[in-house]
Amino acid sequence: MNPIFARRRGRLLTYQAMREGKLTSTRRVACGQCGAESAAIEWERTGQVCPKCGWHAPIGAYHRLWQILDPGTFQELEENVRSADPLSFPGYPRKLAALRAKTGLEDAAVAALGKIEGRRAVLAVIDSRFFMGSMGTAVGEKIARAAELAERRKLPLIIFSASGGARMQEGIFSLMQMAKTAAAIRRFQDRGGLYISCLTHPTTGGVTASFASLGDIMLSEPGALIGFAGPRVIQQTIGQELPEGFQRAEYLLEHGFLDQIVPRGEWRRVLSQLLALHERGKRA
Ligand SMILES: [Zn+2]
Repeated sequence: MNPIFARRRGRLLTYQAMREGKLTSTRRVACGQCGAESAAIEWERTGQVCPKCGWHAPIGAYHRLWQILDPGTFQELEENVRSADPLSFPGYPRKLAALRAKTGLEDAAVAALGKIEGRRAVLAVIDSRFFMGSMGTAVGEKIARAAELAERRKLPLIIFSASGGARMQEGIFSLMQMAKTAAAIRRFQDRGGLYISCLTHPTTGGVTASFASLGDIMLSEPGALIGFAGPRVIQQTIGQELPEGFQRAEYLLEHGFLDQIVPRGEWRRVLSQLLALHERGKRA
């Protein structure tokens, strides 16, 4: 079997075991924030949230979709969209191949059709393990196509973002994805589509400056860093001290940029409520 498929299959079997409560392991995992060790099985139970301090560890795109979608409704879209090497950037194809083999992903975004408590939606999830979730041509294309499909099928669009920004190995082609994704989302919204933007740690750079900030409803996980440039760059540019907690989800909620902070275990409930309200609104 192709190693990527073998790994995906292994992961699916693990998820199935987790769902059925059959997973047993004595492995312990240290928290990236408080350093406390907890049993791996505890981490699985909380959806990779530290059982001691509540830190939300980053999770992969397939894992995220598995947590949110109804079992058996996941249908991957545009699986074969991959980044080219438009600038012949030294070492880029080799790095892409290595990351594909390591993560089982084609690129940093996974698009899917699925159901949340019985309600259909188009989803896209960015995976920060792949080039820091940077937006190259493949990520931009998948987001734009997901918006177009949602528009054609008249389905809500849900995007989970996590990104370090532009894919510098793709230069201007990477920057062009900001305009492309923003235009596709705008067209979708102009025709009455509902777009729920879900921000996770960290969402920065060109992704924040384009589709991630355009949600009709803006949600975030607790503690997520959300911004365009890093705090040090801003501080040096404007020559002023930044306020405490600047660019964290909680600060952004207080200042009106976010509508709600959603802990990891609540995504399914919150999203399904929003989809239900939207459905009812459309019927009325
Ligand atoms: Zn912790």
